[in-house]
Amino acid sequence: MTYNNNTQGHTGFPPCDALISANLSHAVHLPSSPLYPSLVAAYWSLNTRRRPWCFVLPVTTSEVSRTLAALSSAGDGAGDWHIAVRSGAHGNDNSNNIEKGVTIDLSQLNATTYDAAANIAGVGTGARWGNVYAALDKHGVGVTGGREGIVGVGGFLLGGGNSWYTARTGFACDSVINYEIVLFSGVVVNANASVHSDLWRALKGGGSNFGIVTRFDLEAFPAQNLSITTRTIGPDHSDEFIDAVSGFTDLAPSFRDNAMIALVTYDSEENRISLQSIEVNTRNDANTTAFDAFKHIPTLIPATKQSITLAASSNRSELGSGTRGAGFPVTISNDPRVMRYCIEQHASLFSDLNAITGLQNFSTLLNFQPLPSYIAEIGVKKGGNMLGLDRNTTSNMIIFIGSVVLKAPDSEDQYPQVYQKVSAMIQRIEAFSKSMGSSQEFIYLNYANAAQDALGSYGAANVKHIRQAANKYDPHRFFQKRVPGGFKIDRVG
Ligand SMILES: Cc1cc2nc3c(=O)[nH]c(=O)nc-3n(C[C@H](O)[C@H](O)[C@H](O)COP(=O)(O)OP(=O)(O)OC[C@H]3O[C@@H](n4cnc5c(N)ncnc54)[C@H](O)[C@@H]3O)c2cc1C
Repeated sequence: MTYNNNTQGHTGFPPCDALISANLSHAVHLPSSPLYPSLVAAYWSLNTRRRPWCFVLPVTTSEVSRTLAALSSAGDGAGDWHIAVRSGAHGNDNSNNIEKGVTIDLSQLNATTYDAAANIAGVGTGARWGNVYAALDKHGVGVTGGREGIVGVGGFLLGGGNSWYTARTGFACDSVINYEIVLFSGVVVNANASVHSDLWRALKGGGSNFGIVTRFDLEAFPAQNLSITTRTIGPDHSDEFIDAVSGFTDLAPSFRDNAMIALVTYDSEENRISLQSIEVNTRNDANTTAFDAFKHIPTLIPATKQSITLAASSNRSELGSGTRGAGFPVTISNDPRVMRYCIEQHASLFSDLNAITGLQNFSTLLNFQPLPSYIAEIGVKKGGNMLGLDRNTTSNMIIFIGSVVLKAPDSEDQYPQVYQKVSAMIQRIEAFSKSMGSSQEFIYLNYANAAQDALGSYGAANVKHIRQAANKYDPHRFFQKRVPGGFKIDRVG
């Protein structure tokens, strides 16, 4: 369907008309706008490439303010249209785009600045981590942000942010010194340790429940190259591999400059199942002993070693956009029995997906992300976050993410069956880890599926805090009712 880009405020869509009446017609893009197709295509996942009534692309905080003021008075909430918000558009289904309503696209708020005297980087919500790192590199500093350069700043930081630096500096949200945020009414406030400190804490992992954040002020640190080794290992070595991952997860805090992701994956391009370890030293120490256990495992191809800048490392991703994905995280104790079970489950998932789509049409990406318990203490020392990890200060954990991508653009018909298979696998893993006494409550929001209760997994005290802050800063429940995407505190039981 094509609509006219009518700047007189008679598009027939109440929220688009309200934006045009608020003198934002230059920022409004109806489906007839030449830019509209590229705005839809900019979404990372095919699941989220929806066609809203219109996009609005504010360029300044003041335009975000006018956008929210216009939209919050464009209807009393009874009409069945809604608003979606996107920064980098890497979020999951149902979180960042909408069919019946307006999508606020924050991609123009993408500036990165650096205040050397305060050692603080100011980062626009619509920036992507690769560009942030490249801009900060010129000042000789880095920040705790995404591992993949194409991921957006806003969603990543609002959901916590697991980074190569997490063991050293905490989740990325722990490095946010100040949030500039626009509330439902259009009022702009700053939230930090001194002003609106309840909101500051709530925003550290509390997601999109309070307003639209326009800028994040982040603690910076001196830039150093990353030393990165990537190993590809055959599935017949899974026992040694799991023991090495588990040993790494139990390393003492003195190893906090090291990070890793371990994967079991079927890659349709290579047509093989393999295990992979991406081993990172954030102080550029190629001789770190943190990964010694991996060195003894035979590899399928020679390991690759690099010493590269944070910006360069963030751009080496092989995770392409334009696929249809299904994924779920669970958190488990650092228990090799459960990790072995995950690898067994990969084998049955592979057979199931092969039967549904054929070998060429899917890839699997099951990954283990170590979460040593001392990371929780970093968050507490930096003012506290919402993730609730400080409930468990004794047991080292692993965030396990089971995900699948379907490559064919016309994979929509197969998607429900594939989704069910991934979901069923996760349920089996959850049941097994419970039976071993190794399940953990935490569901990491940034990877969470819409079917999971990420906020509820933060624990009662943090749910209460998020609820109170949402009530206080959004008393009309605009971000609960009108902006339904993402994880909403009103939906937590
Ligand atoms: C290839 C890839 C790699 C990834 N790597 C990592 C990783 O290393 N570590 C990790 O922790 N996560 C990772 N993720 C997950 C990622 O953190 C989330 O998908 C995150 O939501 C992406 O942020 P975004 O700004 O791109 O998302 P968006 O889709 O734009 O937003 C996500 C959610 O946040 C809301 N939102 C966005 N901006 C604002 C704002 N300014 N104010 C209020 N609400 C807002 C949106 O409405 C939506 O609900 C990865 C994802 C992908 C696809």
